[in-house]
Amino acid sequence: MSDAPDSAAVAADRAAFREFLRDHNLPATSQRLAIADVVLGTDRHLSAEEVATELRARGAAAGTATVYRTLEVLLRSGLVVERDFGEGFKRYEAARGVPHHEHLLCTNCGRVTEFRDERLERMTTLLAEAHDFSRQRHRLVIYGLCGDCRRTARPASASAGR
Ligand SMILES: [Zn+2]
Ligand SMILES: [Zn+2]
Repeated sequence: MSDAPDSAAVAADRAAFREFLRDHNLPATSQRLAIADVVLGTDRHLSAEEVATELRARGAAAGTATVYRTLEVLLRSGLVVERDFGEGFKRYEAARGVPHHEHLLCTNCGRVTEFRDERLERMTTLLAEAHDFSRQRHRLVIYGLCGDCRRTARPASASAGR
């Protein structure tokens, strides 16, 4: 699974965040560092709520306002990027200089999977050119059911209620 990122990369991110705080005269409070550890220490795409839940599990509970303020700082530092998958809340993932990638979102369990495909990159350029458009960037989210959810879904549930 992609839940465990390269530990050296995580350590570098943590150090970079401390440096960012120092450079901007922001106190490196234990809460800020704990929040950064949660987001930078995974390859998952966490909501602010999930960050707060993880903090509680680690015995480092923080208020919602603190979580959001720290996420803002992480965004400004460039170490974290924000994603809006149209779910009514944002998700946050470690940037780690990863190349542009797309997402698959399971509408049942909320799992986010990443993929990257050169053919898709080329296709968006071709599509843009076909419309006399100069392509700058694009974003694609594929919504559906992940393999686990499909396999655990009871066959009856698909047709029930119709
Ligand atoms: Zn799922
Ligand atoms: Zn992603």
